[in-house]
Amino acid sequence: MDYVVIADAYGKMEATSKRLEMIDILVDLFRNSSKDVVSIIVYLTQGKLYPDFVGVEIGIAEKLAVKALVRASGVRESEVLADLQRTGDIGQVAEICLANRKQSTFFSKALTVERVYESLDKMAKTSGVGAVDMKTAVFAGLLSDASPKEAKYLMRTVTGNLRLGVADMTVLEALAVAFGGGREARGVIERAYNICSDLGRVSTLLVLEGLDAVRLLQVGVFEPIRPMLAERLSSSEEILEKFGGKCLAEYKYDGERIQVHKQGDRVVLYSRRLENISSQYPDVAVLIRERVGAYEVIFEAECVAVDLETGDMRPFQELMHRRRKYGIEAAVEQYPISLYVFDMLFVDGRDLTCEPLTVRRAVLEGVLERNSQLQIASQKVVGCPKELEGFFEESIAGGCEGLICKSLAKESVYQAGSRGWLWIKYKRDYKSEMTDTVDLVIVGAFHGRGKRAGAYGALLLAAYNRERDVFETVTKCGTGFTDKDIGDVYAILQNHVVPRKHARVLSMMEAEVWFEPCVVLEILGAEVTLSPIHLCAIDSIRKDSGLAIRFPRFTGKYRTDKSPQDATTSKEIAEMYQNQLKQITTS
Ligand code: ATP
Repeated sequence: MDYVVIADAYGKMEATSKRLEMIDILVDLFRNSSKDVVSIIVYLTQGKLYPDFVGVEIGIAEKLAVKALVRASGVRESEVLADLQRTGDIGQVAEICLANRKQSTFFSKALTVERVYESLDKMAKTSGVGAVDMKTAVFAGLLSDASPKEAKYLMRTVTGNLRLGVADMTVLEALAVAFGGGREARGVIERAYNICSDLGRVSTLLVLEGLDAVRLLQVGVFEPIRPMLAERLSSSEEILEKFGGKCLAEYKYDGERIQVHKQGDRVVLYSRRLENISSQYPDVAVLIRERVGAYEVIFEAECVAVDLETGDMRPFQELMHRRRKYGIEAAVEQYPISLYVFDMLFVDGRDLTCEPLTVRRAVLEGVLERNSQLQIASQKVVGCPKELEGFFEESIAGGCEGLICKSLAKESVYQAGSRGWLWIKYKRDYKSEMTDTVDLVIVGAFHGRGKRAGAYGALLLAAYNRERDVFETVTKCGTGFTDKDIGDVYAILQNHVVPRKHARVLSMMEAEVWFEPCVVLEILGAEVTLSPIHLCAIDSIRKDSGLAIRFPRFTGKYRTDKSPQDATTSKEIAEMYQNQLKQITTS
């Protein structure tokens, strides 16, 4: 299949910010594609070659991309760099250069989707001596055979600048329409995606074997399951009422969520974002091999930094010292951890995700040989607010953040990839309307002055609207940042600057700099108010009003474990607003 078909579709996607139009364009693209390349298109459209958990990234350095462009177009490097300076868009530069190509190609080879994918794959996997030359040659080869428009998108793809704003849910919906018989099929396709986290795999299954095969897809080791998440409430009465009077309360440990996959001696650890983080926790792998009595398992645990001498839990931030490429042995020594296991999803061929919590928990207890480093989350069945409050206080005294209260009903399955009412978190900060923390996405910024000159003075932050798959601004925040944070945030954001408001961002406020939604920060707000400026949950409480967070302050916690889609949702902020009202009327 010719790459130009994809490039044309990208051109149309770029011209729209409407999700429904985006879906239509994708549906057309899928229908015009040969069956064997649908999965490739799914990956490429999201700027990937594989699902995230595989850890192979497309990106090549801009410098190398420029060299390849010079070689393919014959345009002088100084001219290319000047164009880049002027437009700030390396894709556009490639388009211009190839349109003004100084040398024609005599032996051009067709630019097919398959060839593009294979070449990018080869480039991504090459490292070591000679890698730069090889990558430059392969990429120059692709550009030589590309039309200006194809070159534009190839260039953006390899430099990690494609940014079409095609979210997972958009792809799922387009697949349902193109191959599943209609939008109704989305549920089945979404479930399959939630248990294997691989859109390409799901699309191949759907295209080649049909919707029934997708329905039958099972959980399997080394295919991370998208995590189940908790709703939140701020009183024990409300929590028990939701659960019909009784629930299982568990300590909410403040660490890093880890999904453990084991088959024999092979152990792979996935983060909350489903990245392979095994290299950060070699000690965990040893523990699992020694103390898990099953050949194949998938389970979830919170990994917490501990003080070995006192057994006390240490702050979440200490785990950040494990995020490093080199010197991990020293970090393992210096920052020891304990695992608190809280769910069992798969054991020796048995998929437990559709079993109720009590069954999963019983299996869990039978498989683990506990010690001080490998424990099971403390739990208690509670049937009245007093009991729940008592257990809550106990958890805080033990160094935890509060409780995760879990349904004991027959239907208490593991809801992969969704935030629902089967789990409800109850944290200390929800007890006071003035100290709720939320996780917000940076979508824009304002230049700093004085001490902050040359960096950003304030950030425009947004909540995630899951239904519409957009990011809606909710506050502007310049407080709580240390001098180091100011520098760090500026540096991090440079990779995400976009020339205008991103297609998936809804904002009435005009930021001075815009970003693609990527970076998530934890923010402590004073209260949620109605707002004429912010678009979070617009019209949901009152017509023409959105919601804003007043007096926001950065807590110092970078939520690197969260993707932008994991940020606090607009719906949650609307719930917080309503809870506040309730507290005011009852007090
Ligand atoms: P928060 O922002 O409150 O830390 P989150 O948004 O990352 O939470 P939630 O689903 O809202 O995710 O809260 C559940 C998180 O709490 C899980 O992702 C997990 O990391 C952690 N956790 C700690 N202890 C438990 C437990 N016993 N059961 C389930 N999750 C637990």
